[in-house]
Amino acid sequence: MTTLHFLGPWDLDRRLPCMPRHPHDGPIVLIESRAKSSALPYHRQKLVLVLSAMHHFAEALRADGFDVEIVNARSYVDGLREVTSRRRPERVVAMRPREWGMERALRIARKENALGVPFELFDDGGEGSHFLLTREEIHRWVEGRAVLRMEHFYAHLRKKTGWLMDASGKPLGGKLSFDADNREPPGDERPPPALVHAPDAITRACMERVRSWGHGWGELEGFDWPVTREAALAEIDHFFAQRAALFGRYQDAMITGERFLWHTRIAPAMNLGLVSPREVCQRIVHEHARGTMPLAAAEGLLRQILGWREYVRAMYWTRMPAMRRANALGAERALPVFYWEPERTQMRCMREVVGQVKATGYAHHIQRLMVLGNFALLAGVEPLALSHWFWAGFVDAYEWVELPNVHGMALFADDGFTTKPYAASGAYVDRMSDHCEGCHFRVKERHGERACPFNPLFWDFLVRHRDRFASHPRIGALYRTWDRFGDDERARILESAAQVLASLTPTDHAWRFEDDRC
Ligand SMILES: Cc1cc2nc3c(=O)[nH]c(=O)nc-3n(C[C@H](O)[C@H](O)[C@H](O)COP(=O)(O)OP(=O)(O)OC[C@H]3O[C@@H](n4cnc5c(N)ncnc54)[C@H](O)[C@@H]3O)c2cc1C
Ligand code: SF4
Repeated sequence: MTTLHFLGPWDLDRRLPCMPRHPHDGPIVLIESRAKSSALPYHRQKLVLVLSAMHHFAEALRADGFDVEIVNARSYVDGLREVTSRRRPERVVAMRPREWGMERALRIARKENALGVPFELFDDGGEGSHFLLTREEIHRWVEGRAVLRMEHFYAHLRKKTGWLMDASGKPLGGKLSFDADNREPPGDERPPPALVHAPDAITRACMERVRSWGHGWGELEGFDWPVTREAALAEIDHFFAQRAALFGRYQDAMITGERFLWHTRIAPAMNLGLVSPREVCQRIVHEHARGTMPLAAAEGLLRQILGWREYVRAMYWTRMPAMRRANALGAERALPVFYWEPERTQMRCMREVVGQVKATGYAHHIQRLMVLGNFALLAGVEPLALSHWFWAGFVDAYEWVELPNVHGMALFADDGFTTKPYAASGAYVDRMSDHCEGCHFRVKERHGERACPFNPLFWDFLVRHRDRFASHPRIGALYRTWDRFGDDERARILESAAQVLASLTPTDHAWRFEDDRC
């Protein structure tokens, strides 16, 4: 039987169950979808990354004798239809897609027999796939739970995998999380230089193509991301050799001009399938066992990949499509223009982080959560507007991972995803970064023209949502502080917040965002 193997852009792994084991097992097709690449003003480096990784993957397979075709089509389904009618396979196989819109399009195509042959979709989780749990296992875990918590999910996966567990099934070091031992403010250490992935001829050709398209956001020059499995493995080796030991300690630190600090930089490659989370987790366990990574750092990183990464994917498939409409705090504000044009704000932290995203398509977790997300949360930015910006602007962004992080974690829009909103005043940025020192605004001031905008907005946010948070065990005390401020102080803070909000210029771009265009 001739089987056509269709790979999504995130299925770039020879070991996946939808891959042929032998060149005679049938052709492989990858599709460049014009609808997808123009659905959002994607970062130009993201477009290059996806294209280049697909083309490198195809080249490597061809060198081993596989019949690989890259089809440029209006949409994924159009491309599949065209290639099946031309190649006439007896069946088509693929992994279940990572994005809801694409999964829906493929399911409709299958139901309507649009390909004219049986079309089989393999689960994207479980043994041999890129996530630890199958969709069925996720649903079984979710079923019957009144509250869903990442900690419980992570505990379940630690037990299931046995990673960083002792022979009696107990977590190494006696506890599941070493969060409290990590997350120090920046110290005197500086990170080693990042590994360089100079663009080769294939990448340079992709850069030329993207340049010629004329659309997109962000800087194209300076593209420096791993586009092959070999390069991704080198990135991992570099991390474990040079940065792993301090990863946990400075996981939350922000230092002006230092883009990657001690982070892995592995999400862009891992989300494309170039390396699997399973192998990265096994490497963490191995490095800890041989004494090169302290337990707190090893556990901290394992929790990000085995815990958060798997959890957000589980929540995505459990709550879609409702997650997109989630807006628990009723936020309606348009996205401020400085998310696209960082030179239009005097907030040094925001300028630094958005400028970095524009230059690289990357920011680390705390920059995303506590600068970009926190500002939007406090200012009441409409969740979908911020979500589209994150989806477009980051080299590692796909809806399954950005949407739960933006709606669930950063904006508290998907009620119950986290126990409390990640809202903070400027004091947090001051503690965890060196940005405040040279800022136009004064981080210690609560009101007035030069007060750090995070400060009045923080109190304004709490006041706006008093009904919801006043009795919250971890936030309630803040209301007592607020009530102790004098009337005059409270009025000045709220007036400053109103001035900050009035000063925000909304995004004026005429882009049309289309979540499901694929
Ligand atoms: C608002 C917001 C939006 C985000 N959008 C994305 C996104 O589009 N794509 C993406 O891959 N990650 C996203 N994250 C999660 C996290 O910020 C990035 O995975 C991480 O910064 C990538 O850099 P790194 O590879 O150097 O990660 P490291 O800090 O070195 O962490 C190691 C790995 O842990 C995983 N990880 C850590 N935290 C999370 C998390 N909350 N969700 C999922 N995986 C996690 C990633 O795979 C990451 O590569 C977002 C977080 C926030 C707060
Ligand atoms: S003072 Fe406020 S706006 Fe300026 S860098 Fe610090 S936190 Fe950011």
